[in-house]
Amino acid sequence: MKAILKAAALGALLLAGAGSALADAKNPKIGFSIDDLRVERWARDRDFFTAEAEKLGAKVFVQSADASEQRQIAQIENLISRGVDVLVIVPYNATVLNNAIREAKKAKIKVVSYDRLILNADVDAYISFDNAKVGELQASAITQLKPKGNYYLLGGAPTDNNAKILREGQMKVLQPLVDKGDIKIVGKQWVKDWSASEALAIVENALTANGNKIDAVVASNDGTAGGAIQALTAQKLAGKVAVSGQDADLAAVKRVIAGTQAMTVYKPLKVIAAEAARLSVQLVRNEKPTYNAQLDNGFKKVDSLLLKPVPLTKANVDLLVQDGFYTKAQLSSN
Ligand code: BGC
Repeated sequence: MKAILKAAALGALLLAGAGSALADAKNPKIGFSIDDLRVERWARDRDFFTAEAEKLGAKVFVQSADASEQRQIAQIENLISRGVDVLVIVPYNATVLNNAIREAKKAKIKVVSYDRLILNADVDAYISFDNAKVGELQASAITQLKPKGNYYLLGGAPTDNNAKILREGQMKVLQPLVDKGDIKIVGKQWVKDWSASEALAIVENALTANGNKIDAVVASNDGTAGGAIQALTAQKLAGKVAVSGQDADLAAVKRVIAGTQAMTVYKPLKVIAAEAARLSVQLVRNEKPTYNAQLDNGFKKVDSLLLKPVPLTKANVDLLVQDGFYTKAQLSSN
């Protein structure tokens, strides 16, 4: 009895592995492991990605880790045992996935790092927007509005490699102005899980610590910008202090139109999602995807495709309607 059970278990294991060992090039199975589908942008990434992948004949299995590294590891393991051919991962924590990825590679599954780079692991490809450029765009828009004054830097999640790259891009613009004595960085913080409520608390404290003398908040995305602007509103400073953002979240675009947020960075999610779906299918089919960069993730130089972000202010907000990102009605509704 025991022996039969063992044999059955072995059979199941072999079957589970079969999908990846004999990758089905015509109808690849893609596992899409996303940090957090509760966040607006990632749900859009999922929809665009799935639509494009299905057009290419693939089947997509989506998992959301809801900002838990344990859950993400378990979900990746589950996708591996389902026999996916390629894993596309938006990591919650860039540094904890190396064992799971080693397992994937053993099962001959390709691994694509989506939007955020997975560190110290054998990743086949990375696709993102040029995050250093995003940081530069944020800082230059704000310095144009506030060429002098006190600056506060609101960084992203410390678990997200993008947060560091964004900060580097921002500093490329800010450092020369700091050296000249035009601007002073009065404080900086990383925001755990990119949480808006955490950002609110941080900016409340920063305002208190500086007697409200803050001229600009370089916020790394729209969620944290929202928290910052809530803190500024309570001090009647919204619209007076220049705040940046990223993602063109609907609420943020409305703040840009209302004048409480100076800018956001628009990243056409349809483009990254479609390119990622194409690239993933190509990897399974052993075709050569097109790359335009290589990023060192501590394990190797990862072939990368970095897409172009677009700065967005009140002046060019119509671009979102032209691009089909939002309808005119969405932007004018309360
Ligand atoms: C992404 C941003 C996003 C943030 C929080 C970053 O890695 O690049 O678009 O706002 O994560 O989800």
